[in-house]
Amino acid sequence: MDTKIMLTEEQIPRQWYNIIPDMPGPLHPVINPRTLQPVTPDDLLPIFPMAIIEQEVSNQRWIDIPDEVRDIYRLWRPAPLFRARRLEQALGTPAKIYYKFEGVSPAGSHKPNSAIPQAYYNKKAGIRRLATETGAGQWGSSLALACSMFGLECTVYMVKVSCTQKPYRKSMMQLWGANVIPSPSEFTDAGRSILAHDPDNLGSLGIAISEAVEDAATHDDTNYALGSVLNHVCLHQTVIGQEAKEQLKVAGDYPDVVIACCGGGSNFAGLAFPFIADRASGRQVRCLAVEPASCPTLTKGIYAFDYGDTAKMAPIAMMYTLGHDFMPPGIHAGGLRYHGESPLVSQLYAAGAIEAKSYKQNACFEGAVLFARSEGIVPAPESSHAVRAAIDEAMLAKEEGKERTILFGLSGHGQLDMGAYDAYLSGNLEDYEYPEEKIREALERLPKVSV
Ligand SMILES: *Cc1c(COP(=O)(O)O)cnc(C)c1O
Repeated sequence: MDTKIMLTEEQIPRQWYNIIPDMPGPLHPVINPRTLQPVTPDDLLPIFPMAIIEQEVSNQRWIDIPDEVRDIYRLWRPAPLFRARRLEQALGTPAKIYYKFEGVSPAGSHKPNSAIPQAYYNKKAGIRRLATETGAGQWGSSLALACSMFGLECTVYMVKVSCTQKPYRKSMMQLWGANVIPSPSEFTDAGRSILAHDPDNLGSLGIAISEAVEDAATHDDTNYALGSVLNHVCLHQTVIGQEAKEQLKVAGDYPDVVIACCGGGSNFAGLAFPFIADRASGRQVRCLAVEPASCPTLTKGIYAFDYGDTAKMAPIAMMYTLGHDFMPPGIHAGGLRYHGESPLVSQLYAAGAIEAKSYKQNACFEGAVLFARSEGIVPAPESSHAVRAAIDEAMLAKEEGKERTILFGLSGHGQLDMGAYDAYLSGNLEDYEYPEEKIREALERLPKVSV
């Protein structure tokens, strides 16, 4: 049996899987933050091309992947599926562990799967520049890569604290031709108003989103691109799960549980949604989303309408949220910092169709180090949440003396995250659990939506 299960380029999916027609119930409306009425396509046209707006609300189960996008996917897709034999041995588990490795993309994560089509549709719509935000730099570098491939300019508002923590991600974005601006910045009203109250503000994803959206909304030739959360991003990522299903077929297997880390929810959606689709034909498969205890959106957040960003410019969506002014603790090293969660993933969780679990960061890094010492690959700190949960599932199988097939998403490699690994290896990483009272406080600041 092979260690790596590979497909040919011919087997790159030709369509994305859209879960919207298969959701448990209708979608909640997305709300315009100014009018508090449902968002119309006209509201979104200043920042998104029509093709993306259509995908956001499409009821078509399968959506064709344009040839131009598929041709760029060929540079790294199909991504390999590994059987983690050495990890299984290290754990002494009867479980079979498979992982789908998205770290083979040029940017080192799953994010180019959506950056490439987003750049493509914007180019086709005659847009000249894309503006976006980035935290750890994974999305910014993926969009910089995609823009360079389609001859678009790229402006990235990078959370200020990350610019110092992840300087090489900034270099990567610049290498692919992007203009990187530390956020909060003096370039936007949103940034200026934050700096006026708090000149030393270290930034957050919510603030950086406000800046990028404002930049796009105030320039005709510029659109906005979001790396997670939205329906079309989840859609684009479904190449991951579709390939994984084909690869498991080659291995003669099917998972009992599918595990992925969950920030905004896109790599979880990408891996899990094609398996959730199998339930219609009677398949039993658990899907587990894993998040940090310091940003526990699904496991401790509230299912409510909330703003997508701190400055209340981005649309309001029904989602699990920690409150739009959530600020992750500075000691948090593992990424996955967004205050909200994909509305699709949120609705599935509220309906009991998926499970969620949170881990403290030392447990995640411990799992990542065990993984690196058995399988070799250094996981991205984000992915280490999935690694940890997969290890625990395998250990549970051992305790119960049961066979079990585990599939997890290794959403990226961690070779540019050595600062975080240094902190872990030198014992300087503190565990932190987000306090309940902060979540109760945030409730009071949620928008009052009555549609
Ligand atoms: C951005 C990122 C994530 C989290 O984003 P999702 O949208 O939740 O997938 C996870 N893993 C890696 C490697 C990332 O870069």
